[in-house]
Amino acid sequence: MLRRAGPSLRHFLLQRNISAGHSSCSREAKMSRPVQARRLEGIDKNIWVEFVKLATTYSKVNLGQGFPDFPAPEFLREALMRALSGGNHMLHQYTRAFGHPPLVKVLAQFFEKLLGRELDPMTNVMVTVGAYQALFCCFQALVDEGDEVIIIEPFFDCYEPMVKMAGGTPVFVPLRPNPPKDGKLMSSADWQLDPAELASKFSERTKAIVLNSPNNPLGKVFSRGELGLIAELCVKHDVLCISDEVYEWLVYDGKQHIRIASLQGMWERTVIIGSAGKTFSATGWKVGWVVGPDRLLQHLRTVHQNSVYHCATIAQEAVAQGFQRELTLYGKPESYFVQLPKELQQKRDWLVQSLDGVGMKPIIPEGTYFLVADISPFKSDVPDVPNSDEPYDSRFAKWMVKNKGLAAIPLSAFYSEAHKNSYTNFIRFCFAKEEATLKAASDILQKWKQEKTSS
Ligand code: PMP
Repeated sequence: MLRRAGPSLRHFLLQRNISAGHSSCSREAKMSRPVQARRLEGIDKNIWVEFVKLATTYSKVNLGQGFPDFPAPEFLREALMRALSGGNHMLHQYTRAFGHPPLVKVLAQFFEKLLGRELDPMTNVMVTVGAYQALFCCFQALVDEGDEVIIIEPFFDCYEPMVKMAGGTPVFVPLRPNPPKDGKLMSSADWQLDPAELASKFSERTKAIVLNSPNNPLGKVFSRGELGLIAELCVKHDVLCISDEVYEWLVYDGKQHIRIASLQGMWERTVIIGSAGKTFSATGWKVGWVVGPDRLLQHLRTVHQNSVYHCATIAQEAVAQGFQRELTLYGKPESYFVQLPKELQQKRDWLVQSLDGVGMKPIIPEGTYFLVADISPFKSDVPDVPNSDEPYDSRFAKWMVKNKGLAAIPLSAFYSEAHKNSYTNFIRFCFAKEEATLKAASDILQKWKQEKTSS
């Protein structure tokens, strides 16, 4: 019946459009009122869109965007296969909006261990579409018009536009490098906050501080002393802490990742953000979470239920099984959370050596799978353009991918517009890559170096 009604309905709509004066021409008529919401002003550019496109077009070796090119662990892939083809067909349907019950339950158990406090899976944990959506929920739920949010530079670039979209004002405080005097390579630990400068950014307008430890892009793992200072200021000024800990397991040289929520006075004011993408080397799954007190998470749930509402059930089920495994192997050598940082530390060391070998001085990261390197010795190949609005490192990274086929991200992409020219001699590499990829990158750099010395 419906099929027979089709043509006549089409005919009716056509007639109606014609009689209402809709021609193909008037359909293209421009609206005269502004279409863009004011909150999008100035935040339309996105570094990843531009650099991912460049990498896709030109790169032979991509050490740009942060994702592993090695497979996710077998136990996780198997868990996904089981979820997909096992007996429970309900895994193909909606699940609980704020997190698939098995996942929030195991996350609560896991974080109880890490934080040393009891957690209610239903109120202290929420699952999000990657850490990205967790961040979005935080800013939308907790930041009001006129609120200030402190962001430590360099920072994962989305913090700034997300604060602005919520009507807040980002206030930046830099990590400042103190190069070692003995000629040794710099470490991410040599980038530090100036305590007086940090304190000067807190005021009655400050609603929150964003902390990212281990930090993308530097790989800095904040020490207990540094976290203590931030915590003290948060408590003193009654400020919230949005703690982006997506690289919590990727810490090297026996360093310890300290959770700021475990410091005195911080649990009640902190939202911890995590990502299965980073934790289980499966960035495409886009499963993330927040852990925190109900008094904060209840507002994040409001944003979640009115935006995304729900994350893919099947991916949540597989991540839950991944965490179950890790819970039973906690701290043991077979644990993925023990094995992955071990493997990544070797890759880091390999890339450090190879960059140092060609004179692109690396800043040794204490955590994450990123490494920032100094491009100064290669500057003669990409001459500076005085007074250009584009920072030098950005032009360098574009030139490098187009001419050498090696993709990396300029450090200036991790600074605010006002401070994007602070450090323009650095680019960021991702070393979560197969040996062959890292070797290919090293070959490109060595060949380049040879060409330079022979010319
Ligand atoms: N925070 C930081 C610091 C990140 O580096 C990333 C990913 N690059 C995210 C959040 C987003 O994580 P996800 O892929 O889980 O959304």
